[in-house]
Amino acid sequence: MSQPWSPDSWRSKAIQQQPVYPDAARLSQVEQTLASFPPLVFAGEARELRKQFAEVTQGRAFLLQGGDCAESFAEFSAAKIRDTFKVLLQMAIVMTFAAGCPVVKVGRMAGQFAKPRSANDETIDGITLPAYRGDIVNGIGFDPASRAPDPQRLLQAYHQSTASLNLLRAFAQGGFADLHQVHQWNLDFIANSALAQKYHQLADRIDETLAFMRACGMDSAAQVRETSFFTAHEALLLNYEEAFVRRDSLTGGFYDCSAHMLWIGDRTRQVDGAHVEFLRGVGNPIGVKVGPSMTDEDLIRLIDILNPDNDPGRLNLIVRMGADKVEAGLPRLIRTVQREGRQVLWSSDPMHGNTIKASSGYKTRDFAQILAEVRQFFAVHHAEGTYAGGIHIEMTGQDVTECIGGAKPITEAGLSDRYHTHCDPRMNADQSLELAFMIAETLKQ
Ligand code: PEP
Ligand code: MN
Repeated sequence: MSQPWSPDSWRSKAIQQQPVYPDAARLSQVEQTLASFPPLVFAGEARELRKQFAEVTQGRAFLLQGGDCAESFAEFSAAKIRDTFKVLLQMAIVMTFAAGCPVVKVGRMAGQFAKPRSANDETIDGITLPAYRGDIVNGIGFDPASRAPDPQRLLQAYHQSTASLNLLRAFAQGGFADLHQVHQWNLDFIANSALAQKYHQLADRIDETLAFMRACGMDSAAQVRETSFFTAHEALLLNYEEAFVRRDSLTGGFYDCSAHMLWIGDRTRQVDGAHVEFLRGVGNPIGVKVGPSMTDEDLIRLIDILNPDNDPGRLNLIVRMGADKVEAGLPRLIRTVQREGRQVLWSSDPMHGNTIKASSGYKTRDFAQILAEVRQFFAVHHAEGTYAGGIHIEMTGQDVTECIGGAKPITEAGLSDRYHTHCDPRMNADQSLELAFMIAETLKQ
């Protein structure tokens, strides 16, 4: 890019989806405090993830990205982090073992707090208050004190993210993710289902393979004993993100060290907007959500700005069209990218184009539509001769009832049983595992 970039050059651009803080002086104090704190990740790790993204882009690995729609301050515990991590491990092993395809694991975790909203305000019983924008901004309770944006929350989000990441690193490298534990990753509440049986059969075969490797003296490699796990969140609150920009001492480049990967949401991807300006200057792997309104022209302009060197590890296009729109909308975008010779990692977010309102009023998603969008995403890539590189999902290891359908079906009437999300409805462990088996079948072909 010819225009100079600096960590704060986004401030001169039009910006969408930001809270209005009542106390600007307090906000800038908090920004300075955050900037003085240790970063969450270091540049070398972000570069490692770029290498792994490049493998995916070139068709040699698959990207699994998942976690909460929004992390919350109230639901913050080791058990919750562990269970989401377990399901991601299970999904990854199903795809790796059943399809022989390495899986790059990225959590929507340890920093996924800020939410874009379709309206700035919410009105209930004639009272209008600012919309809830995630715990990093304001509280979910419908009262003026909760809904007032509070900069103090930025600090709490940072501390929660560091503690979460610390535990994730321990799980990934401290023995929990050891392939010898593959049976233990299954969660109790899916213990008796047909899906669990299928999982344990696969785990038995892994055990056999490990026994064989042990007999040959090959089962103690780091690849068997530990795994790599990365974090990502939507880079929505640029005051927060700017505070974590650090210059890498090895390369001199800038990185946003709040997470390994950052993405731009479908509502904030304006080519001349602040979010694109901010992310173009950091060296992390980055994502852009691609909804049905994306034009060919804008897509190429975004790629020009965000990946001028055409690096295969830099840019992840996260397609979230909706099951009924993929077939019509995706081929034209793929052809444009191919015609222009651009290297991008295509992944599918089958969640955000399939949100519906149940008759009971709950926001939900039909698991059948989620599967349908993923299937069509694969089919379109197959027809175009391009590589369907990954999925980006909202899921949790908790036994929630937020998305309808699945092998142990959740009905509309059952949604109220355990509907805990702070924002969008997530797949539970059963539904996530079912999706993983479906993808493994597709990858094998
Ligand atoms: C999200 O990922 O939670 C989200 C808001 O997605 P999108 O920007 O695609 O709507
Ligand atoms: Mn969401």
